[in-house]
Amino acid sequence: MIYSPKSISNAVQILQDDPDAQILSGGTDFMVEVNFGHRAPTSVLSLRAIKELCTWSQQDGVIRIGSALPYAQMETGPLAKLLPALAQAARTVGSPQIRAAGTLGGNLGTSSPAGDSLPVLYALDATIIIATATGERRMAVKDFMVGPKRNALSKGEIITAVELPASTGYQGYSKVGVRNAMVISIASACLVHNPIDRSVRLAMGTVGPTIIRASAAEKWLGEECDLASASSITPAICAEFGRRCGDESQPITDHRSTAEYRRHAVSVITSRLLERCAAS
Ligand SMILES: Cc1cc2nc3c(=O)[nH]c(=O)nc-3n(C[C@H](O)[C@H](O)[C@H](O)COP(=O)(O)OP(=O)(O)OC[C@H]3O[C@@H](n4cnc5c(N)ncnc54)[C@H](O)[C@@H]3O)c2cc1C
Repeated sequence: MIYSPKSISNAVQILQDDPDAQILSGGTDFMVEVNFGHRAPTSVLSLRAIKELCTWSQQDGVIRIGSALPYAQMETGPLAKLLPALAQAARTVGSPQIRAAGTLGGNLGTSSPAGDSLPVLYALDATIIIATATGERRMAVKDFMVGPKRNALSKGEIITAVELPASTGYQGYSKVGVRNAMVISIASACLVHNPIDRSVRLAMGTVGPTIIRASAAEKWLGEECDLASASSITPAICAEFGRRCGDESQPITDHRSTAEYRRHAVSVITSRLLERCAAS
């Protein structure tokens, strides 16, 4: 059975009536699992016809992105100008075909530590909006992922949107893989500079069971520099910041990379992101 509701309330009701229905957004993770026999749904709830989930808006300094908006719409245009790090991350996801279908809701739903949008959501302290049988709940993204491919979503719940603050400072995303395109990351990171509250926020992907905020390195940096101005960040500080981010990573060795290489790679990209911030 395939359900294709046109409203969020209808979708939530379908999940109440058919608790085994599995949520399908762009299908770029879902269908791989079906093809490999790791998932055999008896019924599928497609989100594609719910227009509200496929749009974005900006109001009072908050950008709200529908969970089923495809990456292709984040790569360029007005949304890319508002959220350059998300645009950079979106451009690295798979191929144009994958970016035409894949979504933030699906990246969150899968909750892989290698999900490219996730370090951006963590560095921007995103809020996840979730439709439930009784209404809506909001969750800080830091509480959403609870382990590799595990999250805090309960049965019957649907991610409807992600809310992010519109920020004015530098933001950047960087990813290391075995080649430049069509690649799952070996290490990734997002850095966001907020000159107003004098902070730099740094989130790392693929170097731990969940996305990791480099909180100690962020704190050290705030004590070393005046973060009201990126120009106080020297090359030596960038190198030390990268080293400290590497110390906070928790990489493992698997078929894609060794733990040592992942730690080295994340140190290099976090240091470079801070250099780019200083030069911005
Ligand atoms: C060839 C290829 C290359 C890829 N390259 C990359 C890459 O470079 N970087 C990267 O990060 N990913 C990559 N992926 C993985 C995938 O494209 C992303 O994870 C994408 O964001 C998934 O989004 P989707 O809309 O297709 O999700 P789907 O496949 O539809 O769903 C994924 C999971 O999330 C659940 N889900 C989806 N939407 C919701 C929702 N709104 N509420 C609750 N649960 C939901 C589904 O039930 C399912 O469990 C690649 C995949 C392929 C096939």
